[in-house]
Amino acid sequence: MYIVQIASECAPVIKAGGLGDVVYGLSRELETRGHTVEIILPKYDCMRYDHIWGLHEAYNDLWVPWYDAAIHCTVYCGWVHGRLCFFIEPHSEDFFFDRGIYYGHKDDNMRFAFFSKAALQFLQQSGKRPDILHCHDWQTGLVPVMLYEIYQWHGLGNVRVCYTIHNFKHQGIGGTEVLWATGLNQESYYFEYDRLRDNFNPFVLNFMKGGIVYSNHVTTVSPHHAWEAHLGEFGYGLGHTLHQHEHKFSGVLNGIDYDVWNPEIDRYIPEPFSKADLTPKQLSKKALRERLWLQHGDKPIIAYIGRFDDQKGVHLVHHAIYYALHRNAQFVLLGSPTEEGIAAWFWHEKFFLNNNPDVHLELSFNEELSHLIYAGADMIVVPSNFEPCGLTQMIGLKYGTVPIVRGVGGLVNTVFDRDYDTTHPSEDRNGYVFYQTDYRALESAMDRAIGLWHHYPEDFETLQLQGMAYDYSWNHPGGDYLAIYEYIRHK
Ligand code: ADP
Repeated sequence: MYIVQIASECAPVIKAGGLGDVVYGLSRELETRGHTVEIILPKYDCMRYDHIWGLHEAYNDLWVPWYDAAIHCTVYCGWVHGRLCFFIEPHSEDFFFDRGIYYGHKDDNMRFAFFSKAALQFLQQSGKRPDILHCHDWQTGLVPVMLYEIYQWHGLGNVRVCYTIHNFKHQGIGGTEVLWATGLNQESYYFEYDRLRDNFNPFVLNFMKGGIVYSNHVTTVSPHHAWEAHLGEFGYGLGHTLHQHEHKFSGVLNGIDYDVWNPEIDRYIPEPFSKADLTPKQLSKKALRERLWLQHGDKPIIAYIGRFDDQKGVHLVHHAIYYALHRNAQFVLLGSPTEEGIAAWFWHEKFFLNNNPDVHLELSFNEELSHLIYAGADMIVVPSNFEPCGLTQMIGLKYGTVPIVRGVGGLVNTVFDRDYDTTHPSEDRNGYVFYQTDYRALESAMDRAIGLWHHYPEDFETLQLQGMAYDYSWNHPGGDYLAIYEYIRHK
């Protein structure tokens, strides 16, 4: 099968969060199974060019219709750790992708509407005719819309679309200007409830809704979150749309790429370790302490790695720092300061705790450091308000770092409480789960984890090994996605 991924991220060259990991990892799995995969991305000025091999100009004559003119683009091509990627660079005074950051501008809707249009125009002009387009999140929600309404009449009639929603909170909102810019025009047609009109604000169009309505199949990134989005509150207003399209909606649990996240081959840690020999994990712990100026001693390290977004339960992250200190543990935090208010709060904490030898707060995005933290920590806390899948707990499990998570979304599908889980026998349990969003709930789970570490080290190690035994690679989800592709291709 010939599959083209269209996305705004692909790790490690463009990564703000889990979306990047998924686009890379899934593509690699599909290729390993013998399929042809290409990835179309924006050419951002701030991406990690050091992770692209052989970047060269592949196509210099791409003209993307935009309002009543066209924007000239150059398409570059290169390999990101073996994956063939095409990067679209528009030459326009909007400087859509030359902003120094990936997201967070007032005109994000126009930037990614343009990218979606450019990706389709590129396929059409270059003669590429994939069997499947796999689009991701709101940024590419307009791809299936434009494919169906415009490009199927220009040679792309046999292409089918799988659309994956990684986060319902960000849906992509636009007004009529998006229609006029992309050539969809016909305001009254697209403003119908059954098409792109936002379910709550009748004056705006919703890109993600367009993606759901127009795709051949829609997934979100875990079975439990599929249920939450459809029938609970986490569809952020799209529950009814999902309900109308439930026959083509499902949850596929993300995988992680064990070529990237694997303590047996990780080049960012001092010595490899595995479930056959966990002892060298201690060297990672030592290296982590030295790197972050923490004192040595007989204490567990608890970690948090993630974006600073309300979604992540930051009030509980904050509480976890102080509770860990109170319970004779150390805390390491690696947070990307994406939301200003939350970042300011944690900057304050960083200065406040600066001289404390048991805690380090690192407020940046640092892929290399994240590897050492996963390897060197004893536990990782994920207290999210909602979590479509969550990768950090799965990576933690692979590194023998016991997850302490809130029971929502994909966390429910991946972490099973050592003491209270009723669905798995005790030898298959792998972490700690709490459900409420108050401090007491978090404390009770942390208490149990820290208590086991201090008083029953052998049992703690057994729990680590049970977690490491789980297979959360792309093996299963790769098969699930191929089954979906096959199904929509022949429907
Ligand atoms: P989300 O997609 O909501 O950000 P996930 O748990 O699905 O959350 O994926 C997060 C990914 O981003 C993981 O690979 C994690 O290691 C990485 N990550 C998050 N924050 C940082 C950071 N500050 N530095 C390095 N990597 C980070």
